[in-house]
Amino acid sequence: MSDSLFSDASKRLEKALKYVSLSEDVTESLKHPKSSLSVSIPVRMDNGSLKVFQGYRVRYDDTRGPAKGGVRYHPNVSLDEVQSLAFWMTFKCAVLNLPFGGGKGGITVDPKALSKFELERLTRGYIDAIADFIGPNVDIPAPDVYTNAMIMGWMMDQYSIIRRQITPAVVTGKPLTMGGSVGRDSATATGAFFVIESMLPKFEKVPQETTVAIQGFGNAGGILAELLYKAGYKVVAVSDSQGGIYSKQGLDIPHIREHKASGNGIKSVYCKSSVCNLEDHELLTNEELLALDVDVLIPAALENQIHEDNVHDIKAKFIFEAANGPTTSAADQVLEDKGIYVFPDILVNAGGVTVSYFEWVQNRSGLYWTLDEVNQRLKQKMIEETQKIWSISQEFGISMRTAAYVHALNRLGEARTAKGTRD
Ligand code: GLU
Repeated sequence: MSDSLFSDASKRLEKALKYVSLSEDVTESLKHPKSSLSVSIPVRMDNGSLKVFQGYRVRYDDTRGPAKGGVRYHPNVSLDEVQSLAFWMTFKCAVLNLPFGGGKGGITVDPKALSKFELERLTRGYIDAIADFIGPNVDIPAPDVYTNAMIMGWMMDQYSIIRRQITPAVVTGKPLTMGGSVGRDSATATGAFFVIESMLPKFEKVPQETTVAIQGFGNAGGILAELLYKAGYKVVAVSDSQGGIYSKQGLDIPHIREHKASGNGIKSVYCKSSVCNLEDHELLTNEELLALDVDVLIPAALENQIHEDNVHDIKAKFIFEAANGPTTSAADQVLEDKGIYVFPDILVNAGGVTVSYFEWVQNRSGLYWTLDEVNQRLKQKMIEETQKIWSISQEFGISMRTAAYVHALNRLGEARTAKGTRD
């Protein structure tokens, strides 16, 4: 792939600009990140040696409110990736009408290779390095790939130590005892589930006759698999970074979740000791999963999974993007030409940041909601914005992705214009 992730991501913006009337000033400013920070994080390793890690925080835009977005710990993290993710956060927050702009952070690290103490020192070092760049009214980190509530707790604690003030609203996705919100853990999957449930009936699809393949079995893919399974969908294939498993009859998702929760890879779910008891199950690679003849395909792992070289193999009729940026812009065009409906990341996975917003509101008010309250509000927001995007796509005869960008651009444009020309 010759294009950088960011230049590929911005092509979606170019496409949507044709359907909105924005001033040249607004259009031009939306093409650039507001600010980017690169930091070196020295960490004392358990064996006494010193290792320096590279970290980033990008504030793409804060016209509609403080920047908001997760922090990713992954060996492939780069400034280009973090910037693209911050760009997507800007549009995602506008799609859901959250009072936030877009930001993102990351550290280039394989967190699985670190001990818990090393991970904590790395996290606290990262906050030391970016503390002046974040804040409850400035930029609010959250979990992303390979970060979790425990890490968010360390971040909030370190920031509070630096500021000498308990500051829960600086980070979302925290443990409940540190001001986290109920329902935040499952929010990305729950939000995606509401989008799927509100869209498929338009195509006369009922759960019992709908087959689903899911790539990625983390916080988004794993929980979503279970929600779909419980609602009666036939989840026939799931995978993690090592590969996956397929069964024509549908998989026993709760069993696979249990297996995964005890630290095992999906591929070994039906293996007992050294003898594999696969019965009617087949092992498959992530590439093979994407090419399955299913009704619904859900990429729920990393970006650039569906690209020019494999897009022609896609047989699913509907794609719901639970991951950020799983489809390249070139692949998008092919999917559109093939009549495959793609429901975009900036809508489908927006449940996570929506409940992050609820968490931030709860931290600032000091009043905490029940799970029912959180899920009711999430449902209402997800369905309302999904329907609006569907109407835009019908009105202009454009894809759901372009419609989502149009919807976000209208809100971003309005906010930029309201601010005047000082920018
Ligand atoms: N990392 C998540 C996302 O990509 C959540 C961000 C947040 O909660 O701020 O949407």
